[in-house]
Amino acid sequence: MKVFEEKQGNIFRLLSEAISEGIIIVNDKQEIVASNGAANEMFGYKDDELLGKQLNLLIPKDYHKKHKGHFEEFIDHSGVRQMGHGRDIFGLRKDGVVFPVEAGLNPFMIYETQYVMALVSDITIRKNQEREIREFNESLEQKIEKRTKELHSTILELKEEVIKRKEAENKIKESLQKERELNELKTKFLSLVSHEFKTPLSGILTSVTLAGKYTLTEQQEKREKHLKTIQSKVKYLNNILSDFLSIERIESGKATYKFSTFPLSKVINEVIYDANMLLKAGQKINYPQDIDDIVVNFDEKILELILTNLINNAIKYSPENSTIDVSVKLKGDKLSISIQDEGMGIPKKEQKFIFNRYFRAENALLDQGTGIGLNIVKSHLENVGGTITFTSEENKGSTFTVEFPLI
Ligand code: ADP
Repeated sequence: MKVFEEKQGNIFRLLSEAISEGIIIVNDKQEIVASNGAANEMFGYKDDELLGKQLNLLIPKDYHKKHKGHFEEFIDHSGVRQMGHGRDIFGLRKDGVVFPVEAGLNPFMIYETQYVMALVSDITIRKNQEREIREFNESLEQKIEKRTKELHSTILELKEEVIKRKEAENKIKESLQKERELNELKTKFLSLVSHEFKTPLSGILTSVTLAGKYTLTEQQEKREKHLKTIQSKVKYLNNILSDFLSIERIESGKATYKFSTFPLSKVINEVIYDANMLLKAGQKINYPQDIDDIVVNFDEKILELILTNLINNAIKYSPENSTIDVSVKLKGDKLSISIQDEGMGIPKKEQKFIFNRYFRAENALLDQGTGIGLNIVKSHLENVGGTITFTSEENKGSTFTVEFPLI
């Protein structure tokens, strides 16, 4: 390193070579007047090769113009400062390689001449590390973003799965509930059957025993009386069984309806004919008027079941010597059938429960019954778009009316 005064020069050389940063000193014309070994090595020059050269030699061409301005400005407002001010600055090696540097500037005067000493560090490694860190951070962010998205979609999938499982669970619960109800029904059926079947069966047994005792020809009338009793009790048992089968079908969702076209009078005649066997002494059923031309499209067996239930109730809950009226009305495209009796009626406060399964009004408890007839009549009617209504007054009588579309 050459400085003008030898003595100072030696001290300066000693100091500057001890420093690991590059030192470059320029005069006010930007001529390099001194450089240390670290600077020479950094920029790829031999000892003293830089002396007397323009500073621009060490600066990439693109920055020459800007640098000139900066230099002049710096000389005008001289003071120690870092070069670049937040911008990246670059050095140019002798072999043309451009590399990032960091430089601190220190102006000083010797014998009225202005110099600037630049302390220069090659920051290639740091910059590379910074870039690697930046790239690593970016890829990390991308990974996090990707994972977050994946997590999001996994959460969505999980939510859907939870919904599906809940639905499946509900279905299982529903079918379990149905099964439980069907089981309850079967238990109830067994206890009802053993209870409800006992009386008619022992009645049948008595009649059979008594009928067997009438061996003489002239005792035919007595035999017929017992045969009628047997017939009516068997009919009664048969009706209970039909009702139970209906419940089972409705409950298990297997109730299907077979619609066909038939004359209304056919079903009404059959039902009233069968009901006549159950009549108490002095009871009579009035047939509906003017129904010969009415043709309906309905499930014949279901209509039979509905009317049988209602007429049998009218008989059962009415006293001897009373009349039951069956009437039919056409209301537009609907048919309405009413069964009116002069029986015990239904107590006002119990009327709202009358269609509940197994419900039986207090005043009816002495008569045999299961409490399922009206319930299944209503269910069947609702299934085919029909309705059932009633009016009733205690000790005066009841009228049950069913209505359903003709077609
Ligand atoms: P069950 O006759 O076997 O008891 P239903 O479901 O047919 O069952 O009837 C339910 C209840 O409604 C009966 O127990 C009775 O209290 C009342 N009921 C039904 N029809 C009549 C009627 N015509 N007169 C009086 N009460 C009736």
